[in-house]
Amino acid sequence: MTVIVLALDALDAGLVEYFDLDAFRLTSSGDLETFANTQELPYTPEVWATVATGLSPEEHGVTGGGTSEWDNPVLEGLSRISGRLDESTRGTLGKFIRSQTGERERIGRTDAASIFDAEDAAVHNWPGVADGRPLQRAWDLMNAVAEGMPRSTFERELFGQCAQQFAWAREMLRHPVSIAGVHVHALDAAGHAYADDEDALRHVYVRVGEFVEEVADALEDGDDLLLLSDHGMRTEFYPPDAGENSATHSWRAYTSATTDTRPESVFDVRAWVDAHVSDTRVERENDGSREAINVPEDHLRELGYLE
Ligand SMILES: [Zn+2]
Repeated sequence: MTVIVLALDALDAGLVEYFDLDAFRLTSSGDLETFANTQELPYTPEVWATVATGLSPEEHGVTGGGTSEWDNPVLEGLSRISGRLDESTRGTLGKFIRSQTGERERIGRTDAASIFDAEDAAVHNWPGVADGRPLQRAWDLMNAVAEGMPRSTFERELFGQCAQQFAWAREMLRHPVSIAGVHVHALDAAGHAYADDEDALRHVYVRVGEFVEEVADALEDGDDLLLLSDHGMRTEFYPPDAGENSATHSWRAYTSATTDTRPESVFDVRAWVDAHVSDTRVERENDGSREAINVPEDHLRELGYLE
């Protein structure tokens, strides 16, 4: 009775149709309304923090400008500037500063309540909410491939990280977890790197789709799967992107769910999750697991600690 939430960064609603990939089309699927705040286009940490908290960037505090914390306060000004740059430019600036100073940026983390606060919730990595290091690693990879890292090395690292994240999601289905969330940056990193190479990007979409199918196949009765993206990716080959800068974020965020309903906007995800996770908890109480909760209570009552 677990809801798995896969945060598939940059999964583009238009490219799902263009590549005709059923793996991403669960029971209900379609566009997801997203937003931009510090940049002209949706910015990854801001949107994922909103997805997890249901709050605006002003409320959760994870923004492209203010919360990118630097170990060295002297670098704060540069950090604010870099927050307004796109991710690959930002990666280059970050690398330059690290090479000059040995410091590196950290993605801000909100103090606000999120969908992963419950005791039986699990989160692997999620920008703005939990462990931002895998995103930083993916940003480093995007930067490295832009500077000449061979594609074979880039894909080995990218899919290696991706495989661990999907395997973690499948493992959570074997544990008493009400909700399990993980952020996967593979489609964003590949989208930036391969925006001019249709075959290469299709290959990455197909492979990520296979990972999604493995999770979907592992679901048991009562489990649900929710796919989300924060934005899409403009490419040179997708006709609606003609005249736009390729390798920049598109507004085509996407969502898909094994349920009859799905969130309409990144602001609706928290309410959708709360509704489905509470359903899950009710089912768990009805299937007898509740006795497991009562045993220690009975014991405490015998000992006189409970009335
Ligand atoms: Zn993103």
